[in-house]
Amino acid sequence: MRFLAIGECMAELAPASKPGDYHLGFAGDTFNTAWYLARVGPEDCRVSYFSAIGQDEIFRQMRDAISAGGIDTEYLLEVADQTVGLYLISLNNGERSFSYWRGQSAARHLADDPGSLRRAMENSDVIYFSGITLAILEEATRDTLFDALGAARASGKMIAFDPNLRPGLWPSPECMKEAVMQGAAVSDISLPSFEDEASWFGDADPEATAERYAAAGVDTVVVKNGAGPVLYRQSSECGVCEVPEVADVVDTTAAGDSFNAGVLAGLMENRSLWDSVSLGCRLAGKVVQGRGALVPVDRP
Ligand code: ADP
Repeated sequence: MRFLAIGECMAELAPASKPGDYHLGFAGDTFNTAWYLARVGPEDCRVSYFSAIGQDEIFRQMRDAISAGGIDTEYLLEVADQTVGLYLISLNNGERSFSYWRGQSAARHLADDPGSLRRAMENSDVIYFSGITLAILEEATRDTLFDALGAARASGKMIAFDPNLRPGLWPSPECMKEAVMQGAAVSDISLPSFEDEASWFGDADPEATAERYAAAGVDTVVVKNGAGPVLYRQSSECGVCEVPEVADVVDTTAAGDSFNAGVLAGLMENRSLWDSVSLGCRLAGKVVQGRGALVPVDRP
C-alpha cells in the first residue's frame, strides 16, 4: 500500500517554557495526517509527502523532520529562490492564536508541473489532499491538480479529501466554496467538519453535509463534529459512531488531521467503515490529550 499526501508543511514557532523563547517544529494539515498514518497505518504502507519546498537551510531541516517522521521525501520538489511558509503560535491566558507568513511559500508551486504530479500519483494507491492544499494554489495550477486527481481516480486510485475550510486563505467565501466542491467532485472519500461546513454552506445538520458531498459525487462521507457523534454515509447508507469521552482535553490541534489518518488507516486495511471511523475517534481522542500538532501515539 502506498499513501501520498499533497499539501504544505510549514515551519512552526511555538512558545517554549521560558517566556520569549520559541521552539522550532514543522507541521501542516496534510503533513500531520501523513505523520499519523506513518504511525498507525498498515505495516507495509509507504507514506509519501508531495510538496514544493525551497533550497535553503530551513528547507533541509524540514526535509529531515519529514523523513524522521517515517515519511518518504522523494516527491518534495525543490524550487530555487523560495523558502517554506512559517507560523508563530502566541499564548494569551492559555488561548492559542496563530500568525502566518506563507504568501511566498514554495508550496504554492507544488502543482506547477503536471508530470511530477502524475508520476507521484501513478506510484500511489491512496491520494490525500485538503481545502488548504487548494487554497494555496493559483486558479490555473489548482485546475492542474484537479485534472491529475481526476485521472488518478479514473485509473482506480482512492482519492481522499478534507475540505478544511479556511476562508482567510481565499479571495472570497464564494471562491472557497466553489473550489472545495470541485475538490469533492474528484474524490472518493470526503472528511468534512460539521461546524465549518454549517458556517459556510449553511448545512442544518451533519446529514445535510453528507448529502451535499454525496450529491457532488463522493461515495464515502465522514462528518466530524468535535465531541459529538461522527456521521458517516456510504452509497446512501448512513450510520453514526459515538466519540469516546475524553476527561482531560488539553489541546485540539490536529484532532481532525489525526482522525482522518485513523479512518484512512482502517480503510487501507479493508476494515468496515464503522471500524475505521472508530479507529479515527480513538486516535484523535489520544491526540487531544497532548500538546501541539504531532503527539507521540501508539496504535489505539
Ligand atoms: P477538526 O479538528 O477538523 O475541526 P473536530 O473538532 O470535529 O475536527 O474533531 C475531530 C475528531 O477529534 C472528532 O471526530 C473526535 O473524534 C475528536 N475530538 C475532537 N474534540 C474532542 C473532544 N472534546 N473529546 C473527544 N474527542 C474529540
